Amino acid sequence: MVMKDKWWMIQDPQKIQEARIANNNQKKKLLKKKLYIFDQDGTIYINFHLIEGAKDLIEFLNKKDKKIVFISNNSSISTSTYKKNLTELLKMEITKDHIYNSTLATTQYLKSKNISKVYALGTKDFIDEICSYDIKIDDKKPEMIVVAFDTTLTYDKLKKACLFIRSGIEYIATHPDKVCPTKEGFIPDTGSFISLIETATDVKPKDIIGKPNPNLINFLLEKMNLKPQEAIIFGDRLYTDIKMGKHCNLTTALVLSGESKIKDIKKYEIEPDFVFTNLKEAYNLLKK
Ligand SMILES: [Mg+2]
Repeated sequence: MVMKDKWWMIQDPQKIQEARIANNNQKKKLLKKKLYIFDQDGTIYINFHLIEGAKDLIEFLNKKDKKIVFISNNSSISTSTYKKNLTELLKMEITKDHIYNSTLATTQYLKSKNISKVYALGTKDFIDEICSYDIKIDDKKPEMIVVAFDTTLTYDKLKKACLFIRSGIEYIATHPDKVCPTKEGFIPDTGSFISLIETATDVKPKDIIGKPNPNLINFLLEKMNLKPQEAIIFGDRLYTDIKMGKHCNLTTALVLSGESKIKDIKKYEIEPDFVFTNLKEAYNLLKK
C-alpha cells in the first residue's frame, strides 16, 4: 500500500474533504445492498437525539423494501426495549426483526454448540430473552458459563461462576466492552467482568461474541440467509463497527457523527469503504 496515495493521508483540510467525497462517489455502486446494518449510538442517535439524516435514510430504505438491522453489543436490556426506544425515536414501526444484539448472537452461538443449559451472569431481561430460545438456566450442572452485561451482578453470582470455571466448565462473554458510557459517566461493562474472572480463575473466555469480533455479524448473516457481499455496515467506531465489518467482508461505512475522526484511519490502520459526515450524506448519495 502506497500511503501517500490514500485520500485520508492528505494534510490540507479542504482537499481532504474533496478527496473523501470523490472516494464516496467513486464507490457509489457498493452502497446498493440487500441488508443495511446500523450501529446505534453515534450513528443513529446521540443521547437519544436523532442524528441528521438517520430518519431520512431509514425511511428511504424501508420504502425500497431493503432489510434494515440495528445492532448493539449491550446485553443488559431486552430486544423489546430496543424496539420500543427506536420506534419512539424514529417515529416508525420498528419490529423485532430490525433488532440484533449480542444476546441474540449468543443464543445462536449456544445453539450452534448444542448447549442448552448454562449458568449466566446477566440481568433479568437477558435471562428471559435467552430462555425464550429454549436455553435453560442451571446452577447445578451447567454446560457453559455465560457472562453478559449484568447490572445486577452480586458477589454470590460471581463466586458461583468462578467456581464452575475452576471446575473446568468453559465460559463465553456476550461482548468485550470494558466500560459503558452513561449519563453518570463510564460504568463497568462485561470486559471488566472478564478481567475479574480471568484474574480469579486464570482462564480466558472460550469466545467473545460482540463487536469487534466477527461472531455477531456471522450469526446475523446466517439468520438472514445472506452473503457478506449483500450487506453494508454503518458505524461511528473504526475499531469496533468498521473492524468487524471488514473482518466479515462486508462493505463498510464510517460516519463522523460519533467517536472516530478521519485521522483515526491511520492510527488504527482500518480503512472503511465510505466515510460520511453523517447518515444525511449517505442518504443523499444513495438516492441520487
Ligand atoms: Mg456507536
